[in-house]
Amino acid sequence: MDSRFWILGVISLLDYSKSSFFGLQDDDSCVLCAQLPETIDHLLTNCPFSREVWFKVLRKVGWERVMPNTHTYSLASRWSEARKQLPKVDRRGFDSLVILISWLLWKERNNRTVDRRVRMVDEVVLSVCNEVVACPLRAVDN
Ligand SMILES: [Zn+2]
Repeated sequence: MDSRFWILGVISLLDYSKSSFFGLQDDDSCVLCAQLPETIDHLLTNCPFSREVWFKVLRKVGWERVMPNTHTYSLASRWSEARKQLPKVDRRGFDSLVILISWLLWKERNNRTVDRRVRMVDEVVLSVCNEVVACPLRAVDN
């Protein structure tokens, strides 16, 4: 099965209403930026915190040119558009990176919601890099 379909299925399962998420949050604002209502697409695509994580990770692997503009509203369209800009040889690695970043952003969201633990952008970027080192996608420049 194409990994993109798998992760989109997982993400659709994660598309929740805040009131049903164990009743842990009092409002619907994003726990990563506290600026806008949280939706799964905001959290993984348009949130300023998430965008900074995406940009810093993509820059480290030399794929910053596929960073979407602020008018990309969903992870699915972002992912599809971005991978078309990469050579075919890089697309599987890119797919893995998208899944990894999405997972770690979701995990950061849950850490803040459930455990009240907050990590900064660079700490999340470091956790992505540590996972990439454990399972290399492509050589990392710095
Ligand atoms: Zn946000």
